[in-house]
Amino acid sequence: MNAEIVSVGTELLLGEIVDTNAVYLAGQLPALGIDLYWVSQVGDNQSRLVEVLGRALSRSDITLISGGLGPTADDLTREAIAQLMGEVIYQDAVLATELATFFAARGITMSASNLKQATLIPSARALPNARGTAPGWWVEKGKHIIVAMPGPPEEMKHVWQTAVLPCLRHCAQAVLCSRTIKLFGISESLAGEMMTPYFESPNPTLGIYAKPDGIQLRFAAKAADEAAAHQLLDPCESIVRALFRDKVWGIDDETLDSVLLNLLAQRQITLATMEFGTQGWLAATLAAGSNTDRYRGGLVAATIETLSEFGLERALIEGEDIEKLAAAMARRACLILGADCGLSIVESPTVVSTSKYATALYIGIDGPGICKTVRVTYSGGKERIKRLTTSAAFFEIIQALRCTA
Ligand code: ATP
Ligand code: MG
Repeated sequence: MNAEIVSVGTELLLGEIVDTNAVYLAGQLPALGIDLYWVSQVGDNQSRLVEVLGRALSRSDITLISGGLGPTADDLTREAIAQLMGEVIYQDAVLATELATFFAARGITMSASNLKQATLIPSARALPNARGTAPGWWVEKGKHIIVAMPGPPEEMKHVWQTAVLPCLRHCAQAVLCSRTIKLFGISESLAGEMMTPYFESPNPTLGIYAKPDGIQLRFAAKAADEAAAHQLLDPCESIVRALFRDKVWGIDDETLDSVLLNLLAQRQITLATMEFGTQGWLAATLAAGSNTDRYRGGLVAATIETLSEFGLERALIEGEDIEKLAAAMARRACLILGADCGLSIVESPTVVSTSKYATALYIGIDGPGICKTVRVTYSGGKERIKRLTTSAAFFEIIQALRCTA
């Protein structure tokens, strides 16, 4: 069974609002085993709406529409569906009474235009909307289903959860589950080449994505139920782990900082950080984590003088051996904050990068049985570089801690 989402509203096309309704609905469909093939946005224009809906009807089993169910002249979803179906809109007495009751309960006089929201066509039934004045429509034509929901996200979600989801659960014959395996320290192209044979698989399917925290391999399996889907996904994860070994740092919702903080908790190790050139990104990311008991805190230097006040020798700060400086910073962080393990990031305080393509930063790790420095180079804006370097620092310390486990 396949679905298509149509988001209605000129505001979307003007870039004034973001299509969060489509994102929400897209996220709901995998668990129902419904494949989503198309997402469209269309303005408040009846002929274009009819065109988009006609195309959706011809190629999709289910069309999920949001928006255009309001009382004003530019709310045209009902009119477009009626035109497409060749049916005449009529006012439904029960819906009109419910609408009048809704307004009376709030002590507001109902405008005549609101009665537009109490209309149906013969092949539509109303989907109750306790959060607003516009009920949705559930329309069935042959094997096709068209669902129209109000545009305001809160109302759309309410109608979806209370009226649409229960009906679609009846239609669904399968579930789609996914597993994302996260890698670091490997390029997207190389990871893609190594996974080439698996891209052919129809079930589970494989997707590859480059993210600030590395490369993600996402397998999606369709099966009768979740347990059966996970049985298909388990061997995929094993294959990836065997192929990429220590480049694998996490799965699904795990983040580099959450993996690190959990590892510290498991091993009962405390951590302190020191950074120069990343504007406190390392410390801010760790401090915002949800399991921060073992994080002692971070020292952020904005100037060479501050680095010096943190107890680093002037010759080291102004010298050319930045790896040595990174290692010393990790050690100082441990000492000052009384932690077992230190992690540092430093961009050369004195040597200005001559390359317009890449900025070099240095990561230092110092702890029980660990003394490691890593040079990384990244290109792009400051924001990108600090995110990538922070990810690299987390990955390096995760690897170091795992090696000494
Ligand atoms: P209303 O009764 O408010 O007119 P409606 O069903 O006609 O409801 P629209 O007029 O299309 O819906 O949109 C109303 C508001 O809902 C928009 O101004 C916007 O704030 C929000 N909205 C609509 N569509 C979306 C969407 N796809 N994603 C996020 N927000 C949306
Ligand atoms: Mg509207």
